[in-house]
Amino acid sequence: MSRRLAQLAKIPVTELKGVAGKKADALAILEPPIETVLDLLTHYPRRYIDRTEQKTIRDLKVGDEAMVLATVKRVQSRRTRNRRSLVEIDVFDGTSYLKCTFFNQPWRAKQLAVGREAIFFGKVDNYKGRRQMTSPVVDLVGNKTGKIIPVYPQSEKAGLTSWDFEPLMTEALTRAGEFADPLPEEWRDRLDVVDRTWAFRHIHEPESMAAAQAARKRLVVDELVRLQVPLVMRKRAVERESKGIQHTVDGELVHRFHAALPFPLTGAQQRAITEIGSDLAGPHPMHRLLQGDVGSGKTVVAVTTLLMAVQGGYQGALMAPTEVLAEQHELGVRDLLRDLQVPDTDPGTMFGERPLTVALLTNRTTAKEREKLLAGLADGSVDILIGTHALIEEAVAFKSLGAIVIDEQHRFGVEQRAALRGKGQDPDVLVMTATPIPRTAAMTVYGDLDVTVLDELPPGRTPVETKWVRGDLEQSEAYRRVEEEVAAGRQAYVVCPLVEGSERVQAKSATEEYERLGTEVWPDLRLGLLHGQMPSKEKEKVMSSFRSGELDVLVATTVIEVGVDVPNATVMLIEDAVRFGIAQLHQLRGRVGRGAAKSWCYLLGEATTPDAEERLQAMERTTDGFELAEVDLDIRGEGTVLGTRQKGRSDLRLASLRRDREWVSKAREVAFDIVDQDPTLRSHDALAEEVKLLIDEDEAEFLFKS
Ligand code: ADP
Ligand code: MG
Repeated sequence: MSRRLAQLAKIPVTELKGVAGKKADALAILEPPIETVLDLLTHYPRRYIDRTEQKTIRDLKVGDEAMVLATVKRVQSRRTRNRRSLVEIDVFDGTSYLKCTFFNQPWRAKQLAVGREAIFFGKVDNYKGRRQMTSPVVDLVGNKTGKIIPVYPQSEKAGLTSWDFEPLMTEALTRAGEFADPLPEEWRDRLDVVDRTWAFRHIHEPESMAAAQAARKRLVVDELVRLQVPLVMRKRAVERESKGIQHTVDGELVHRFHAALPFPLTGAQQRAITEIGSDLAGPHPMHRLLQGDVGSGKTVVAVTTLLMAVQGGYQGALMAPTEVLAEQHELGVRDLLRDLQVPDTDPGTMFGERPLTVALLTNRTTAKEREKLLAGLADGSVDILIGTHALIEEAVAFKSLGAIVIDEQHRFGVEQRAALRGKGQDPDVLVMTATPIPRTAAMTVYGDLDVTVLDELPPGRTPVETKWVRGDLEQSEAYRRVEEEVAAGRQAYVVCPLVEGSERVQAKSATEEYERLGTEVWPDLRLGLLHGQMPSKEKEKVMSSFRSGELDVLVATTVIEVGVDVPNATVMLIEDAVRFGIAQLHQLRGRVGRGAAKSWCYLLGEATTPDAEERLQAMERTTDGFELAEVDLDIRGEGTVLGTRQKGRSDLRLASLRRDREWVSKAREVAFDIVDQDPTLRSHDALAEEVKLLIDEDEAEFLFKS
């Protein structure tokens, strides 16, 4: 009988002969802890020491990165002048001596006692004419003779050596025997991967580096398939369960809307609209993610989506994350739809037409307006409702909600998405995001959605010129640019530094900066202030004076990050830019360069870390959101980029969305193939069991009920 992973997850690691008392405690404090045999077997080597690459000390040259096997001959422990601990050891390998030094690792003196044999891996440098390694990686070899030696992560933390794992792995592998292989043979062939038994053996006990690589590839595929399968199952289950409205997408209303636009649609907008149209016309409700860089024209696509529903007699809703943004959308949408008529279904006026009605609902809506609006929603006379999360409040009920657009999804939780969906009978849903994320990450974070990318900007945009300015002199160049542009009839934004603390603290600091700029820097310009603590009415007043050109400079916090659309604004100053992440800087910068005139973005301030320097340089180098997203992924690592939504993310022990990007798409293909043949994995029990290990009970119940 071959072994299932789920079975190994039930065997405590203490059942292994090699694990008892202290060792069990040590394994339990690892992160994640090793409690079962499965935990142990999926505690994968961090790297391997390839003993065939071993050098002799005699041959080492300064600057080499090398590995030597040597015996400790002398150990000295002391403190440096600034009271750091310093352990110096001399090692000998039969050809020559080498000095190794360790700062702040006093325990090395004990670990590397005289007579100890170990592998030292590091860069050879020159200290007072002698070759030495500073803080080399140390592996205690014992009498290890194999050629490829796995090195396990966190062993030091647990007070174990890498070698302590070896007998445990051997015992666990022996005990596991043959592994059941959940990946159909056909896919193993197509992907050219080894079987699972072989993979587990060679990830822990490889015969060659190539074997270790092949093993890794197989286990990476496994992890990614396990991640994709539940996402794909969820997608298919939702499609199965829901009736979906089959909208008539090819109607008069949409034609009129497009004909009235002052510009032709871009190719990317057309493609997106075609995809969305076929979703809406189809029998399953749409769940689609529209990714488009700032300024790529998502609004027109969103409005088209809503109109496709409206022309068949349904209602549409658009939910935005902030009041400013909701109001902005409402203005924009109202403007786009100004002269459109819809068929009047009121029996009294058969075949008549009435103007299309757009309404706005936020927490600012007065009780009276709200009452009227809710009545209009209930009787169907409000066609499109735009608003903040106020839309999902219980009292809000539609006559027949047919399509939903959710803007800037990263600010809403999955539950909020579901709550809005629940206001109709399986309405179609379009989620829009302007936070570019790499495709592979999108497949993971939004794996239950289909993805459309607007990969083309409307013509006539001049890319924003971005400058990172560091000193006072340079800063005055940025200020001068603002003055010049204002003199030419344009407008500017100044984004205030992020300060730690509450919204109130943030608001206070923005107010101070607004006063400073208004008195010391630009006493002759008309400045406005916008921050999150202002009453909504005031916020809207400031925005509309900026929009209409009554203000020259808008001093603002990041409330302007999303959606604000004033094409006449051509300069942006971002103060203390190092404090912002790449995605945020990119969003902010997207507020300029929206018209035909040339625009500038100045990033002010010194970089405090190498990462910050890299971020700001990337911002200077490119305006391509997807390229920036890749840089971001590189700098921050995927955990932080993917955020907290995905439970499965923590199950990626080997796979890296960056390094293994091609495998992410292949795993998704595998998942579709399997799930479409066997929606509840009835004839794939091994896989089903593995998936259940990773998802919570509610989810399992939803996915596996037939
Ligand atoms: P996004 O929401 O993707 O950042 P918007 O929908 O706000 O972008 O559009 C940005 C600007 O581009 C708006 O001023 C809009 O009117 C304009 N726009 C949209 N589509 C086109 C197009 N096909 N041609 C020219 N301008 C367009
Ligand atoms: Mg927008």
